[in-house]
Amino acid sequence: MGKPTGFLEFTRELPTKRSVEERVNDYNEFVNRYPDEKLNQQSARCMDCGVPFCHNGCPLGNVIPEFNDAVYRKEWKEAYDILSSTNNFPEFTGRICPAPCETACVLGINQPAIAIEEIEKHIIEIAFDKGFVQPKKVNKRTGKKVAVVGSGPAGLAAAAQLNYAGHTVTVFERDDQAGGLLRYGIPDFKLEKWVIDRRLKVLEDEGVTFKCNANVGVNVSVNDLLREYHAIVLAGGSTVPRDLNVPGRDLKGVYFAMQFLKQQNKRNAKLDPLANAAIESNILPEDVFATGKNVVVIGGGDTGSDCVGTSNRHKAASVTQFELMPTPPKDRTAFMPWPTYPMTLKTSSSHEEGADRKWAIATKEFIGDENGNLKALKIVDLEWKSSEDGRPSSFVEREGSERIIPCELALLAMGFVNPQYVGLLEQLGVELDERKNVKATEKEYKTNINKVFTAGDMRRGQSLVVWAISEGRECARKVDEFLSGTSLLETKDQTATFYAI
Ligand SMILES: Cc1cc2nc3c(=O)[nH]c(=O)nc-3n(C[C@H](O)[C@H](O)[C@H](O)COP(=O)(O)OP(=O)(O)OC[C@H]3O[C@@H](n4cnc5c(N)ncnc54)[C@H](O)[C@@H]3O)c2cc1C
Ligand code: SF4
Repeated sequence: MGKPTGFLEFTRELPTKRSVEERVNDYNEFVNRYPDEKLNQQSARCMDCGVPFCHNGCPLGNVIPEFNDAVYRKEWKEAYDILSSTNNFPEFTGRICPAPCETACVLGINQPAIAIEEIEKHIIEIAFDKGFVQPKKVNKRTGKKVAVVGSGPAGLAAAAQLNYAGHTVTVFERDDQAGGLLRYGIPDFKLEKWVIDRRLKVLEDEGVTFKCNANVGVNVSVNDLLREYHAIVLAGGSTVPRDLNVPGRDLKGVYFAMQFLKQQNKRNAKLDPLANAAIESNILPEDVFATGKNVVVIGGGDTGSDCVGTSNRHKAASVTQFELMPTPPKDRTAFMPWPTYPMTLKTSSSHEEGADRKWAIATKEFIGDENGNLKALKIVDLEWKSSEDGRPSSFVEREGSERIIPCELALLAMGFVNPQYVGLLEQLGVELDERKNVKATEKEYKTNINKVFTAGDMRRGQSLVVWAISEGRECARKVDEFLSGTSLLETKDQTATFYAI
């Protein structure tokens, strides 16, 4: 524990951000770094609790009190070693993790939680600045070849770990650049893409091979992979978006959020946003901008919030965000006690930039003009009833609330239902679970097909970057056991135990 009285002396402070007025004019990140003194004070707040619930809150089992202590003592290499023992990519989670660790922080019972996510980002950025992050030399190759399909955080974590175990890893990615949703879903203003490139360079230098524009099941044969590799990890994500099949869905101006977001990320990368439109259904055949339009984002989650931020940068005339569910409570209720992850009202940095957020609204129709362009939405208010556990359980439309609002661009951000079956999964013949995700237990990560494993959103359904990294790591251990009979790759419990004793 760095400073025994730290939590009494200092309160939670987050780093400053560039002003809203300034940052909506570009797509760059806008969260500044802490000055040295502030970082020291924030790490000093950690109480090194006897039972650190934050470990459990973090899906990676990050060893948080120990790295906070090292940061307080300015032992940067030690802090980096502790952090990287459980997390391959803290530069991603330190920027975009919703930080379930912080909602489990013991200090959070009666004070604002430790700023764990920010401290994590500082440790890794200082480690890169000081040259601690170097490609690890793999001493002995096993002669076993592993194909990882998909280069999102799950595929990258699996590839990194399997490479450390000595296997020869090739990552196949159907997009033109690696990174999965980090690259083409999450906007640059949350995660600039040089951050991904910097990590890919380390992985390449360590020996991982990346093959982009390689769509397994389309231009890369599934049978070739089965024949040539000793194991395959499916990490293709959950990519089928939930649709809203109401009248007018086909109008010009109604798009999936990912179609809109991917275009902008490509523009930022100075790539053609329309390339491959003829063969890929999630690429629109024409440029879509929110500029001067009344934008309605349908869906209240992270993806929706990213559409809000992007629309504001396009200079939309207005940005409204609808959510079907009722307004969440501001604070924990009896049904969401500490240290569970609370479903409370979250205001993202994109919301700070301006959006009219409305809850308990259903969209009944998209209304078009004579040329087939969207011009309005027919919406209605909902009245929700809650079940005994406090969760909203059923709704009815409020009588007389139906109305029409102007809207020239509607973005559907209602989540993803399951991975794409056609192509890769169909040709492999993998079994699916009841939610149509690839079936494999969280203990084994093994599908019904011999030597084929799966991790990330493709297995657990739409989730978070931190879960994808965790799944990639745990899956790699299972693949290593399959290939080598045993594995030296540590589980998160083993790492936590190591630091505890
Ligand atoms: C807009 C948006 C914003 C988000 N924001 C956040 C956030 O702020 N914080 C957070 O924690 N999470 C966020 N998420 C969720 C997070 O991005 C995902 O949970 C995470 O990326 C899943 O990782 P993954 O590796 O399982 O899959 P993905 O990141 O989806 O990667 C899968 C990759 O596999 C490739 N692929 C699929 N099939 C094939 C094939 N047949 N051949 C070759 N390649 C293939 C895909 O092209 C893709 O690149 C967001 C999601 C979206 C859509
Ligand atoms: S990865 Fe996410 S949950 Fe884990 S310590 Fe970092 S911010 Fe917290």
